[in-house]
Amino acid sequence: MKIEIIKCLNDNYSYLIFEEETNIVSIIDPSEFVSCDRVIQKYKKLDYILNTHHHADHVDGNIELKKKYNSKIIGYHNDKDRIPGIDILLKDGQIQKIGNLVFKTIFIPGHTKGHIAFHFKDKKIIFTGDTLFSLGCGRVFEGTHLDMFNSLNKLKMLPLETKVYCGHEYTKSNLDFCLKYDPNNLSLKEKLIKVNSKIKSNLPTIPTTIGEELKTNIFLRPDDSEIRKVLNLKNSSNQEVFSKLRDLKDIF
Ligand code: ZN
Ligand code: FE
Repeated sequence: MKIEIIKCLNDNYSYLIFEEETNIVSIIDPSEFVSCDRVIQKYKKLDYILNTHHHADHVDGNIELKKKYNSKIIGYHNDKDRIPGIDILLKDGQIQKIGNLVFKTIFIPGHTKGHIAFHFKDKKIIFTGDTLFSLGCGRVFEGTHLDMFNSLNKLKMLPLETKVYCGHEYTKSNLDFCLKYDPNNLSLKEKLIKVNSKIKSNLPTIPTTIGEELKTNIFLRPDDSEIRKVLNLKNSSNQEVFSKLRDLKDIF
């Protein structure tokens, strides 16, 4: 499984997946036709388009790519009216194959009502769209804070070594936010050095891993006593701490 990271628009990432054994080419969340097609042309085909959710910056390449390559578009069944050109409808927990690659759909609402992640368990890789970012989480647009909290808790259960490919390069500003409310976290300070050097070299800070996120991503750590102290929420529930952080990030 070869993954190519494709920079799109201002800060979006689309991902091309090449499965070498059966020569199957897929793309996750094609934000725009031109940037994606430039990479797809090397492979001369595009078998599948996978969408994590319906937002324009994740589906705008769908129709033109489908037209050019006769691709099949895969997305969440309840979003069949919002994902342009959708062909294959997925349900929560469904196992799907693209060539010899197997992935499971994990339903993670909150950012939108129909957001899903694609988990390639054998390869220890997950594509999380706009739900889990490196050092952050997506804005809650259609769902509730509780939806997002529950969705992140699902992702927290994945094996620590799982590589996370998310929909945007938001890592630097997420990191600044994490440091503001978790200033003494040594793992976060280590991450700062890594992230800065990647950004300086104009390289993606993606992928991260579930293990790294558990140590650094403030939205996955509402039980942490240091964060609670800074927020003055010592006796609140994890969900309340999470909601507070999400509200603070909205105005950060
Ligand atoms: Zn989105
Ligand atoms: Fe997005």
